[in-house]
Amino acid sequence: MSTTEQRVAVVTGGARGIGAATAVRLAAEGRAVAVIDLDEAACKDTVEKITAAGGRAVAVGADVSDEAQVEAAVARIVEELGAPTILVNNAGVLRDNLLFKMSASDWDTVMNVHLRGSFLMTRACQKHMVDAKFGRIVNLSSSSALGNRGQANYSAAKAGLQGFTKTLAIELGKFGITANAVAPGFIATEMTKATAERVGMGFDDFKAAAATQIPVQRVGEPEDIANAVAFFTGEAAGFVSGQVLYVAGGPLD
Ligand code: NAP
Repeated sequence: MSTTEQRVAVVTGGARGIGAATAVRLAAEGRAVAVIDLDEAACKDTVEKITAAGGRAVAVGADVSDEAQVEAAVARIVEELGAPTILVNNAGVLRDNLLFKMSASDWDTVMNVHLRGSFLMTRACQKHMVDAKFGRIVNLSSSSALGNRGQANYSAAKAGLQGFTKTLAIELGKFGITANAVAPGFIATEMTKATAERVGMGFDDFKAAAATQIPVQRVGEPEDIANAVAFFTGEAAGFVSGQVLYVAGGPLD
């Protein structure tokens, strides 16, 4: 592939929130974008935003934790847009609970979507990146990787994604492929709205309370994360690999 050809990006969980903002941003960077989500129809808004701005995009329905669906989704993307060389593993779910109340199925669901899903998607896309001698992989970690009450499953999965990212960087670097993780802090999406509901707070009050704990004194927006993903997936970022970037309005440790 010549570098003047349009590169194909895949964004999982692209129907809303961070994934939707990232898909729109990557299209604005000149990428053709495959928007994957559980429900294909739910990807319509994101795809329409991209095409209305003159970009190319397709909606693909797939559960990223299902091996056959992932293989079929990537085959369809190759057919309809071209070989994917940019992958953003963004699809995610929460099943929060204190450890003593956490069910094994809530543990498994979170592991399956975040870890197995990122593994399956990356394995399916990497051969196209190797062929192109170019690739950009970004995995969505979280500030919760550092530990967060009520999130033993999610925290373990998001820390696991950081190890996965570093190993991808080591294994795939020689093929011109980079792998990095973006670890958001509090971002205003349906995910954090659901958390507010779970703890019995209105979303505005929940965001205002969170903002007081963040050095820049505001919560993040999906575009804040899309911006970081755009950097890591850029043509010029070829020497940045295996990194974890916390995008949280302040330092975390
Ligand atoms: P969101 O609004 O809940 O969007 C997540 C999307 O992923 C939804 O459209 C969801 O579809 C989809 N999805 C869930 N399971 C899937 C599966 N098995 N296969 C395909 N798609 C699936 O979440 P968000 O806040 O934008 O978060 C995006 C990513 O950032 C997640 O990995 C999350 O863990 C991470 N993150 C978010 C925050 C935050 O503050 N929001 C902070 C740190 C990290 P359905 O609607 O059909 O379930």
